[in-house]
Amino acid sequence: MFSSRRRAVAVAAAACLVLLAPIQASVSAEPTATAAQDSAIYTVPNTDSQTRTEINRTGAQVLSVSAGVATVEATAAQAEQLRAAGFALREETKVAEALQQLSGTERVPGDFPPDDQGFHNYDEMVAELDATVSEHPDIAAKSSIGTSFEGRDIPVLKISDNVAQDEDEPEVLFNCNQHAREHLTTEMCLHIAQRFTDNYTDPAIKDVVDNREIWVIPVVNPDGSIYDVESGQYQGWRKNRQDTGTDLNRNWGYLWGCCGGSSDNPDAETYRGTAEWSAPETAAMRDFIDSRVVGGTQQIKAAIDFHTYSELVLWPFGHTFDDVTDGMTQEEYDRFARIGGEMAGSNGYTPQQSSDLYITDGDSLDWMWGQHRILAFTFEMYPAEGGGIDGFYPPDEVIQQETARNDGAVDILLREAGA
Ligand SMILES: [Zn+2]
Repeated sequence: MFSSRRRAVAVAAAACLVLLAPIQASVSAEPTATAAQDSAIYTVPNTDSQTRTEINRTGAQVLSVSAGVATVEATAAQAEQLRAAGFALREETKVAEALQQLSGTERVPGDFPPDDQGFHNYDEMVAELDATVSEHPDIAAKSSIGTSFEGRDIPVLKISDNVAQDEDEPEVLFNCNQHAREHLTTEMCLHIAQRFTDNYTDPAIKDVVDNREIWVIPVVNPDGSIYDVESGQYQGWRKNRQDTGTDLNRNWGYLWGCCGGSSDNPDAETYRGTAEWSAPETAAMRDFIDSRVVGGTQQIKAAIDFHTYSELVLWPFGHTFDDVTDGMTQEEYDRFARIGGEMAGSNGYTPQQSSDLYITDGDSLDWMWGQHRILAFTFEMYPAEGGGIDGFYPPDEVIQQETARNDGAVDILLREAGA
C-alpha cells in the first residue's frame, strides 16, 4: 500500500503569474557545484523550452513540467543565480530531508529500504537474467557489453529464436538505468525480458521472438545504481561514479557539448565529461551498438532508452529546437511523430520532440539516430509530474502496473522495426 511519506513531499503547482525577465547573459555564468543532497526542490512558473534550457545552463536541473510550471532541483547558489536572472523560484522541499523521508527509518545496507524490496538491486538484476536464461535457454542468452568505471559488468540479454545464431532479423534495443536514481526503468527492462520469454507459448509473443532479435540492457549505470542505495538510504544520485560523476546521457558522441544542453562543471548533475565517450559505460554502449553493424548495415532498427520521470515519449533531436535539420528530413520527422504519437496513445504519455522539454546534447537519442539512423525514442516513465525528488522513488507497488503500461508501446516499436 501507499505510505503517507510518499505524499509528504508532493509539490503544489504555483499558480502565480510572474513574468520572467528577459534572460541575461548572467544565467550562463559558471555553474555551481551540485549534489542532490545539497539541493532543494523549487517550482518556477511560466517556463517554456527556451527558459527551461536557461535554467539547466546554471547547473540546476528541471525535473518535470506541469502547465509551464517547472519543478527544479538546484543548490542555494544556483537558485540565487536564477533569481538574479529574473526567475521566480519558490522553494518546496530540501532534497536531503525528502530522501530521508523516502528511505524510512529502517536501513538495509546494500539494498533498497524495506518498503521498496520489490525493486531489483544490481545483484538481483543479474540473478534475474541468469534465471531467465536457465529457464529459457533456447530463446535467451546473456552476455556483457563491457564494464563500468568500477569494473562491474553491464549485462545484456538477447531474446530470439535460435538465440545462439546471428540471424538476419530486425533488431530492437531496450536499455534502462543510464541515470542511477531512475530505478523504475530497471524494472521496465526486466519486465520486457520476462514478458518475451515466459509467454513464448503465446502466439503473438512467439511471432515477435521468432522474427526479431531483442536486446535488453537493464542497468547501463551499475556503479551509480548501487551507490544510490548501498547505504540503505537513497542518495538522489544521477551520474556514474567516475570522479565527481559524469552524466552518461550527456556523454554520447553526436555533437557532444554542442549546444548548451549539458554542463562543463564536474559537479553539475548534467556534467558531460572530459570528452565524448569519456565514461566507460557510454563507450561500452557505443561499442555494442557499433558491433551490430553487419555487412555495412546497422541491424538495430529501433530502440527505447527508458528514464524517469514525467510520462513522456520523446524523439530526436534534443540538441536543437528545429524539427528538420542536418540529419533529419521532414519525412523522417513525420515518421517519428507518427510512431511516437501511436505509442503515446497506447500508454497515455505525452508525445513530443525531446527539445520541447529543454535542449540536451550528447544524449543517446541524438547519437542513435544521428549516427546510426536507429528509430530511437526516450521514454520518461511514471509519475507524470510535480513530484520533486520523490518522483524518482515511487513505491514498489506501482512496478507491475507502470511497466505493463508500456507493453503496447513496446509492441508498436517491435512492429515498426520491421517496416
Ligand atoms: Zn534520466
